[in-house]
Amino acid sequence: MVAKSVPGWQGSDGSVGLTDWKEELRQAFTRPAELLAWLGLPAALAEPGAMDGFQMLVPRGYAELMEPGEPLDPLLIQVLPQAAEAEAHPAFVLDPVGDSAAALGPGLLQKYQGRALLITTPACAIHCRYCFRRHYPYAQASLGSDAWAAAVAAIAADPSIHEVILSGGDPLMLDDPALTALVAGLEAIPHLERLRLHTRLPVVLPSRITADLCGILTQSRLQPVVVIHANHPRELGPAAALALWSLRAAGVTLLNQSVLLRGVNDDPDTLTALSTTLFRHGVLPYYLHLLDRVQGSAHFEVPLPAALALMARLRRRLPGYLVPRLVREEPGAGSKIVLA
Ligand code: SF4
Repeated sequence: MVAKSVPGWQGSDGSVGLTDWKEELRQAFTRPAELLAWLGLPAALAEPGAMDGFQMLVPRGYAELMEPGEPLDPLLIQVLPQAAEAEAHPAFVLDPVGDSAAALGPGLLQKYQGRALLITTPACAIHCRYCFRRHYPYAQASLGSDAWAAAVAAIAADPSIHEVILSGGDPLMLDDPALTALVAGLEAIPHLERLRLHTRLPVVLPSRITADLCGILTQSRLQPVVVIHANHPRELGPAAALALWSLRAAGVTLLNQSVLLRGVNDDPDTLTALSTTLFRHGVLPYYLHLLDRVQGSAHFEVPLPAALALMARLRRRLPGYLVPRLVREEPGAGSKIVLA
């Protein structure tokens, strides 16, 4: 069952709904009480004080996929500010993955050989409460065309870099002209081979995946890889399926990374269904991340022994190509740490 229809959004009958992604963003839920009332839930479930610089943001199409009247809905708890975020846990820090130590310049990070990562924008279409960049100092990164020009120059000067990852925030929050300019600057660098985007928009704001966007990604000489971020099979509704099909049909390689989250996907049935649903939509499960220990997210953590036990169950149920790799990111490490 899905929630009652939001005016202007027709997701429950299988149609795509709003076609203007910017307008859909303007209509996103930003006040917890409003979202909870719309779901038929008490306002007391949220703790607005927990937002502290990380406001709630939930597109209406994503809310449409939540179960009305269910306070523990796995989509809802990913986005609802809760009192637990304010609890202090010494092991949970502002920069759990060592982004600041990996900075080469404003908005440009390098952690791994042969790849560089561009923080393109602070903006996202949804605010995931467990986000490892929820405290990232975007204001100091002075993002924008000047920073991009410097980043592109730095990448051009290093022939060992063969792949650029556009990240953020969410790189698909850039509009088409900005994205076109950035891709043009990158494809002019002869030693670059691949362009990878890490984005949650095909899942949470599928209307962003337009024919024009597919053209920007596939008309470049760089091989396009889009790594989406889905944590639960119910996130992949009809509109997301259509968006993923459009990307696939245009020639984009699609992978998924998930975060293992307590109360969201820490059971074998959900993870099995996530893998099979992804594959049905042309996406290969790539990584299942142990939670990055960012301040405010301790209530989402799944202990390592439980994560390993889940992986063993998945391995018995699924063909190998549908089993994601369980990984942890350690600051300063030369690669992700593969745990299972
Ligand atoms: S979409 Fe990604 S970057 Fe944005 S809040 Fe969610 S996890 Fe963080």
